[in-house]
Amino acid sequence: MSETQPPPGEAVAIGIDLGGTAIKAALVGLHGNLLESFREDSPRTVSSLRDFIHSVRNRAKVPVLGIGIGCKGVIDAATTRVNRLPGDLHFLEGCTLRDIAGANGLPVSADNDARAALVGEVLWGAARGRRNVLMLTLGTGVGAAALVDGVIVRGASGAACHLGHVTLDLRGGLCICGNYGCLETSFSSRAIESSYFAHIHRASPTHLSLDEAGHVPSTEAIFQAAADGDPSARRVLDLAFESLTAALVSFLHVFDPELLIIGGNIAAAGPQLLTRLREEVARRTSVLLGREVPLVLQKTIGYGGVAGAAGLIFLQQRLLTI
Ligand SMILES: [Zn+2]
Repeated sequence: MSETQPPPGEAVAIGIDLGGTAIKAALVGLHGNLLESFREDSPRTVSSLRDFIHSVRNRAKVPVLGIGIGCKGVIDAATTRVNRLPGDLHFLEGCTLRDIAGANGLPVSADNDARAALVGEVLWGAARGRRNVLMLTLGTGVGAAALVDGVIVRGASGAACHLGHVTLDLRGGLCICGNYGCLETSFSSRAIESSYFAHIHRASPTHLSLDEAGHVPSTEAIFQAAADGDPSARRVLDLAFESLTAALVSFLHVFDPELLIIGGNIAAAGPQLLTRLREEVARRTSVLLGREVPLVLQKTIGYGGVAGAAGLIFLQQRLLTI
């Protein structure tokens, strides 16, 4: 990530993207430009999260306007309280991120991580000037956010648009959310890796194996193996893409967006991912929508959520508007 100095007097905010695998942060300028970026494995305690945020603050060589945080789960944007957060970051449930950031009067904003990523796209990316946009973040889990008629959808309790938890398989396995057969159980890095592990465990023909520590091959390695002709990797990805395609078709029928943005770590597969989806999704939505909805990649894959989190501060302070 390139690092540049802001012009004198430029507004700068800290953006933090707290996901299931990594925590990322950056000093972000008013144009969505990243001035300095940071990344660590996701914290597993409140104190390690606090230490990370403090270290980023201490590294800032320019005054910052505030700290914006995008976090998995159901976040109360008004209070920054983490209302519900199953999984690896469960220790944050019930915590108020503003208190953890301990910002000494510095404003702190927080929202769901996918929503923060969408804010970044609306302010500076592919969704600029649009009023109806759907975004999916494909990573450890599946996040989603929607801009509907110019408004970011939050719902009654902040839980709206958890599209990773729509039921796709009526007989599917138990999901992290307590539902069965969710999209996230069939298309997410955890789902892809566990499905490939099942192939290894059954002694199906595979190119990859567990490493010496017993770790399952990464999603990135499974994508590469499929490209190299690994029959198990191909089967795993074929089934995963079948689920994702069906889900996207349903989402376009629900939201009728101008644009669908795909982000998250799995989106790093880039054109390979989009080519596979575009044609089938277009064919299956053409009757009701009457047009092909563009599927595009997030502008800054990997750090878009960080920029969007800082955008929460710029919006709060009315330096920018949607
Ligand atoms: Zn679920």
